Amino acid sequence: MSHPKEFDAGRPVVLRGGTVLTMDDAKQVLPGCDVLVVDDRIAAIGPDLTGPEGTVEIDASDGIVMPGMIDTHRHMWQTVMRGYGADWTLTQYFVWYYLEWGKAFRPEDVYAGNLLGAIEAIDAGVTTTVDWSHGLQTTQHADAAVDALQDVPGRFVLAYGNLAQAPAEWTTAPEFRDFVGRRITGEDMLGFQLAFDVTGDPAFPEKPAFEAARDLGVAVTTHAGVWGATGDDSIRLMHDHGFMTPETVYVHSASLAADSYHRIAATGGSVSVSTESEQSAGQGYPPTWALRAHGIPVSLSMDTTVWWSGDLFSAMRTTLGVGADRSREHLEAHAKGETVTHAALRAEQVVEWATRGGARALGREGDLGSIEVGKKADLVLIKNDRSPVMFPLLNPYGHVAFQAQRGDVHTVLVNGRVVKHDHRLLGVDLAAARRTVEQTVEHLRSTLGDEAWEKGMNPDVSETTILDNPYTYTDYHSASTHGH
Ligand SMILES: [Zn+2]
Repeated sequence: MSHPKEFDAGRPVVLRGGTVLTMDDAKQVLPGCDVLVVDDRIAAIGPDLTGPEGTVEIDASDGIVMPGMIDTHRHMWQTVMRGYGADWTLTQYFVWYYLEWGKAFRPEDVYAGNLLGAIEAIDAGVTTTVDWSHGLQTTQHADAAVDALQDVPGRFVLAYGNLAQAPAEWTTAPEFRDFVGRRITGEDMLGFQLAFDVTGDPAFPEKPAFEAARDLGVAVTTHAGVWGATGDDSIRLMHDHGFMTPETVYVHSASLAADSYHRIAATGGSVSVSTESEQSAGQGYPPTWALRAHGIPVSLSMDTTVWWSGDLFSAMRTTLGVGADRSREHLEAHAKGETVTHAALRAEQVVEWATRGGARALGREGDLGSIEVGKKADLVLIKNDRSPVMFPLLNPYGHVAFQAQRGDVHTVLVNGRVVKHDHRLLGVDLAAARRTVEQTVEHLRSTLGDEAWEKGMNPDVSETTILDNPYTYTDYHSASTHGH
């Protein structure tokens, strides 16, 4: 039954008898329920469904069927350096990529990182990933990034960026426009955004980049509210010039004053929270508590596997409790001598942020992010018959947020196609990906030399370079991003 060839012909698929987290408006949880997929769509939801002739059966009993997860901010090109920066601060990250070694990445290295990042995403049930691709020094790098995304059967959004140049420079270059014309065809599996940051420089040097985005009709995604880099001045400039729109995605959005949250809320944008990143790198406290208070829509992201894990189970878990929202709530209460008796943030909410929240951020709520008839069949089955952690299955949202791991991702469908089944990726050559990645690691190691390579991975705290601003196209320093 589980032979991969069964899935090759685009045959209908039924996920039989799982607990279905629909994430629809009514937040229906349907035990013992089937989900029928025909072509690229969800065709039916209900008990004992009969599919068309030739429907492939997948046993979902004792498992959870949920919408494919959506990561709205991942620097996929950095996947080739998995775990390298585990002990970095944000400053050390900026020094390594922005000032010293980011330029060492050739197009084939961006390809290698994106390939591994894309495979990793679908393996973990992340069916849509925004590739926050700020390593695109040339359009040859951008072609390589897209080549990799198209070599893996996931859904991706290329958020085009270039940390080596000013946003006004690369967004207005003829070769960039040529790239957009050649590679961004409106095809459903590859979305497009512009990715750049706003320094807060009163001259607003990023203005032409916003105009380019408006001209192309695409959303801007921007690291906002990052201590030491971007802050309230950045938000104010965007707002004053009319560039804050409902499509804008603000990444992190920690270290911001209430005024900035008001501006985000009033203009309808959303925030991509990367809790593991904010907890450890220093952008500011993970801001879900502030976003909930201001009614700002939230999606989740993992940022980069150069430090952290690349799966949204970790994002849900850390955002909910281990380090962020509930932790802060308890600490604030204790400081006042009080006790939190009822948790404000519920497991259901972080599952919603990891699925529908991402769809909303990308303007895809109409066809992604929930399990409803007629929507795209981007689906995840969490089921592991060999795991003692898969039963009893009493609280499905709690199970997803606190119990499940990427190893429990049994089956993944993207656009109606089974890309993982029985814990094995289908149509993915992992050995070839490994060889590609190894070539890039060898290139980086030999370019840096052994000493710089080891020193980069094991930063000496006492010799940390002091960096006020990673954006070398302006000398601007803001009190709102540095405190004084
Ligand atoms: Zn980032």
